[in-house]
Amino acid sequence: MMGRLAVVGLGPGGDATRTAEVVARLAAATDLVGYGPYLDQVGPAQYGQTRHDSANRREVDRAQFALDLAADGRDVVVVSSGDPGVFAMATVIVEQLHHDAAGGRWKGVEVSVLPGVTAASAAAARVGAPLGHDFCVISLSDVLKPWSVVEQRLDAAAGADFVLALYNPQSRHRRWQLARALEVVSRHRAPGTPVVLARNVGREGEQVEIVRLAELDPDRVDMRTALIIGSSRTTAFTDAAGQPWVFTPRDYPDELSAETSASESTS
Ligand code: SAH
Repeated sequence: MMGRLAVVGLGPGGDATRTAEVVARLAAATDLVGYGPYLDQVGPAQYGQTRHDSANRREVDRAQFALDLAADGRDVVVVSSGDPGVFAMATVIVEQLHHDAAGGRWKGVEVSVLPGVTAASAAAARVGAPLGHDFCVISLSDVLKPWSVVEQRLDAAAGADFVLALYNPQSRHRRWQLARALEVVSRHRAPGTPVVLARNVGREGEQVEIVRLAELDPDRVDMRTALIIGSSRTTAFTDAAGQPWVFTPRDYPDELSAETSASESTS
């Protein structure tokens, strides 16, 4: 008897932002596979599943291990934080199915991907609506792609006046990349551009701050932080009750696109 496998998104933090289908699937599972902190994020072992902490496994091995468990008849859930399709495990599982398309090692395993609230959406909601117009999500990690590609994409996206949501901004081993990324973005943005610095959204120790691009201190940013850098239209203000907000208007005036191309042709 073949089992099944779901790659689920836990959302940014605790179960308040978890979808009902993910909660139901976690409750039905016999085996949970994932990185320790994400397994902890599932909550106490209330459902009595076996937990496979994959800290020391490569992603590909973790994916194959999970698929093999399902082929043995287990009801497997692979957990990712946020959304499983955004810089996370869904790709790795689907890639394995692709490699095995002719082989049939996991033929008959019912595989599904269940979405979750990604960090950018969770961070945006804390301050209002900075992602209200076109935006671009970029990972600053150069572990899986060359840094030159990261810079090229930042330059193109900032140049096209997208709002930027930046993931994996900095780690203990990657110290200079964020400062360099901010230099690239600053070629296209005013120093006063609002930036949302969102750390541990929905988790213990949540910190969400609104700063100006020129004042952003890379040392305050770590791997548990997502950044949202505004477009030329993004506005930060404090309302009558003293609460800060950030929004990007839905519309984009014609004059602005003309201005953007004019300033580009002179630079
Ligand atoms: N699949 C995840 C993203 C994985 S990449 C998602 O959809 O959210 C990991 C990066 O996501 C982190 O470096 C950080 O930039 C961001 N991130 C994930 N969870 C976060 C949270 N709760 N608060 C702030 N940023 C978070």
